[in-house]
Amino acid sequence: MMTDYSKLGLRVGLEIHQQLNSETKLFCRCPIKKSESFNQAIKRKFKPVAGELGDVDPAAIYEYMRNKNFVYSYDSESSCLVELDDDPPKDMNEKALRTALQACKMLNCRIIDELYVMRKTVIDGSSVSGFQRTLLVGMNGSVETEFGNVGIMTVCLEEDSAPAIKKEGDTVEYRLDRSLVPLIEIATAPDMHSPEHAKAAAEKIGLLLRSLDVVRGIGSIRQDVNVSIVGGARIEIKGFQELEKIPQLVQNEVSRQLSLIEIKGELKKRGVRSVAGNAKDVTDMFSKTKNSMIRKIITEKGRILAASLPRFSGLLKKECGHHTFGKELSSYAGAYGYGIMHSDEDLEKHQLAWEFSRIRETLGAGKDDLVLIVAGRDPANAIAAVIERAGQCVQGIPEETRVADGLGSKYTRPLPGTERMYPETDIQPIRITEKILQSIKTPKTLLEKREELKKLLSEEIAEQLVKSREFSLFERLSKEYKIDATIIATTLLFTIKDLKRRNLNVEKITESALKDVFMLLEAKKISKDSVPKALEMLCQGKTIADIARSLQVIAENELRKIIKEAVKSSSKEKESVLMGLVMKKVQGKADGSTVMRILREEMK
Ligand SMILES: [Zn+2]
Repeated sequence: MMTDYSKLGLRVGLEIHQQLNSETKLFCRCPIKKSESFNQAIKRKFKPVAGELGDVDPAAIYEYMRNKNFVYSYDSESSCLVELDDDPPKDMNEKALRTALQACKMLNCRIIDELYVMRKTVIDGSSVSGFQRTLLVGMNGSVETEFGNVGIMTVCLEEDSAPAIKKEGDTVEYRLDRSLVPLIEIATAPDMHSPEHAKAAAEKIGLLLRSLDVVRGIGSIRQDVNVSIVGGARIEIKGFQELEKIPQLVQNEVSRQLSLIEIKGELKKRGVRSVAGNAKDVTDMFSKTKNSMIRKIITEKGRILAASLPRFSGLLKKECGHHTFGKELSSYAGAYGYGIMHSDEDLEKHQLAWEFSRIRETLGAGKDDLVLIVAGRDPANAIAAVIERAGQCVQGIPEETRVADGLGSKYTRPLPGTERMYPETDIQPIRITEKILQSIKTPKTLLEKREELKKLLSEEIAEQLVKSREFSLFERLSKEYKIDATIIATTLLFTIKDLKRRNLNVEKITESALKDVFMLLEAKKISKDSVPKALEMLCQGKTIADIARSLQVIAENELRKIIKEAVKSSSKEKESVLMGLVMKKVQGKADGSTVMRILREEMK
């Protein structure tokens, strides 16, 4: 069934994060490079101070931080005292600022004339100093899409945080070699009114950004997607990376919200006004359980807590976005590292039917009530979070930050979410003068380049090429060699991928090896049709001399001999059949157009 999104009052906004291509970090001169060894490490435990928490639920933060140890591994070659907040920051990376200004111009933003560097508190441990520097560069821009204009609210330049490398027990390890990479953050207005519109805007902004000097490839661009519908809530889904699948993500969030609205209606019909109640320790009832998971928890001195949700029976089986409502509720326990088991599940299968019927008695729960348990070392907070979330069903949908989970999302701790900002007093405000503004030139956009390419390549290949990571290599190669642009494009887009699929060692196809092959082609020493074979030989470790020798094009008099022979022995055949015979014989060592020309001459 088609969903009428305008009827639902769908509004989607995006926050796009794009890493910039930079030699150095944003506020020091340390190189951005992958370090091989990490000979130094700092261990920290964070104690968030009330004032830093902003809107974040302090209990949840406390719970999260209580036992966490953070380890920051670094190498003095790629990290310095600025990052550890033991030295004041250096001047801002000027190239990064210029790129941010270019982005503002391309997005038609008003550029702020005095830039203030701010510190943004980071309370999830991903910054060793506990903050991230950020500055607002432009605002109030817009971008056109086929579904209408989309407002750009803000463009910020900031330091990217470090990705967690390892989580083991309560210890989280970060590596600092790739942290503090300059990053542009673009926030759109919630102007998109259909899932396809959201994708079109993300695609357009992505293409504009990739016209600039930015990092390409997996993880270099991330999208936060916020979705709201009438009667629902504004939900932010963080960290979605698959641009092509934004429509499914939005659809799933819309259907999750619609299900929650339905559940609210159903509860009202069933006369549920609130969900109160405490969890009860029912560990004793499981002393003889046949469920192996629970038995294991009990041997490890764990506890089992139970609660009932009044007249919720049957609701947990309901679809809710990309999963069931049961899974949805369970993710609130999941934020504390637990899961729930409940009476809407197949209890016979889990060998828990007997225990659940006893719990039902003990709790005084009727057949319309749902019974659930949470088991583990210390499940009190987890089950309380589930009961609280179930209670919110009566009111509607809570506003919350979620993280992308496949094509849907799941509740996570309210982290890092809304942080507090305060001025960075170590850096003077930066004035953007008229002269600086004049000197910022925007490059040809990928969209303009795509239109130009359509004159050289088929529309489909041009489209695919500008979106691909290979595009800048294509530009370099096509500038350097006077050969058919299609052969360069198809080599980069398809041939190399095909060799990789066949498990050949494509690492050997370096840029310089590729240039050697195209040089042979330009000098007409090998034919166009031999290029895949040449690359295959590179993978097998053959030298360029080997390739030139074994794929050398057949001299024209030699070729004519072969063709004459074919025409004589199969004189009754049609041109196309003869062509096939000859091409098979020469095995790519002659150009198709040359073979055709000689063939026609000989057939006369
Ligand atoms: Zn540094």
